[in-house]
Amino acid sequence: MQRPIYLDCHATTPVDERVLEVMLPYFRESFGNPASIGHLYGWEAESAVKLAREAIAKAINASPEEIIFTSGATEANNLAIKGVAEAYHQKGQHIITMQTEHSAVLDPCAYLESLGFEVTYLPVKSDGLVDLTELERTIRTDTILVSIMAANNEIGVLQPISTIGQICRDRQVLFHTDAAQAIGKIPLDVMAMHIDLMSLTAHKIYGAKGVGALYVRRRHPRVNIAPQLHGGGHERGMRSGTLYTPQIVSFAKALEIAISSQLEEQQKILTLRQHLWNRLSELDCIHLNGHATQRLAGNLNVSFLGVNGQALMLALQPVVAVSSGSACSSAKTAPSHVLKALGHSDELAYASIRFGIGRFNTLEEIEIVASHIVKSVRSLR
Ligand SMILES: *Cc1c(COP(=O)(O)O)cnc(C)c1O
Repeated sequence: MQRPIYLDCHATTPVDERVLEVMLPYFRESFGNPASIGHLYGWEAESAVKLAREAIAKAINASPEEIIFTSGATEANNLAIKGVAEAYHQKGQHIITMQTEHSAVLDPCAYLESLGFEVTYLPVKSDGLVDLTELERTIRTDTILVSIMAANNEIGVLQPISTIGQICRDRQVLFHTDAAQAIGKIPLDVMAMHIDLMSLTAHKIYGAKGVGALYVRRRHPRVNIAPQLHGGGHERGMRSGTLYTPQIVSFAKALEIAISSQLEEQQKILTLRQHLWNRLSELDCIHLNGHATQRLAGNLNVSFLGVNGQALMLALQPVVAVSSGSACSSAKTAPSHVLKALGHSDELAYASIRFGIGRFNTLEEIEIVASHIVKSVRSLR
């Protein structure tokens, strides 16, 4: 049986062969613990981690000491939000975030609410963009953190990160951004964009799962965070635990490839998306969710009016691997909180499909998927 065509690149991506290649020595001969300072095995691993840290820092215009390796963006978000809350609670207990954030931001915020912090969940406009006037109005003297994602994992919408960074800097509030979907796909510069904390992950850009990083600004201002994992004092005490050299090496290589081919690759992916949208537009009553142009090149999120969402997913399964909503919440039966925040009804939210086009997709695959969807939607209606 033919495997379905993979169009779920917001959930994860396959490891690029070039990435796998550079990881392998660190499982085999160079398997040492980077913290072992007494022998060659440790030195090899330590040197690989050092180079990876430098490369990742350079890619976002940070310095190496500002990179804390984590198990992924979920942990980075937790460390940023809970770490700042714990370190700054005497300054204030108000946090601002957005209704369309990933659950790895929303859930730590809800947890902090249970401890007595106050969280404002900013609404978005019907195109998915946050209202900047609303943001400015919401910042108070006791606001310690603004957390707004760079790119949304369901509707691909790109928030105006530079402007948000400037607003936060002017008001002297720390700015965290979850850039799990944005890294490698759009330029990110923590200096130019006034970002104080930024969450990253490798597995959305053809790196290994189980590795990511939190960027924490060290100068102008110096950001303090309270560690959330205590132990051997790795990562300057901010995240204990033996560093996973192969995954870290994969992260740096994946990022290097993504950035060196960024313009060309995103253009190619955009062409595929436009083709998919043009073909789907043969159907009546479809709706594009999220801003038409201010979105990730590989993202298309479409509502098929008058179609039962579950029946559509079932019809698509043998041919194409897609999600309705995010991978993390599609196990739940609730409609997508992102589409609800755009003002959609439950019914419309259920009848929505998220397409995530990536590096290895071809025009031929898009053609097969489009034909199958057009046929399926017509027969279901
Ligand atoms: C995938 C994703 C996460 C979670 O990242 P992990 O590395 O899988 O923990 C967080 N935020 C966004 C926006 C994501 O897309």
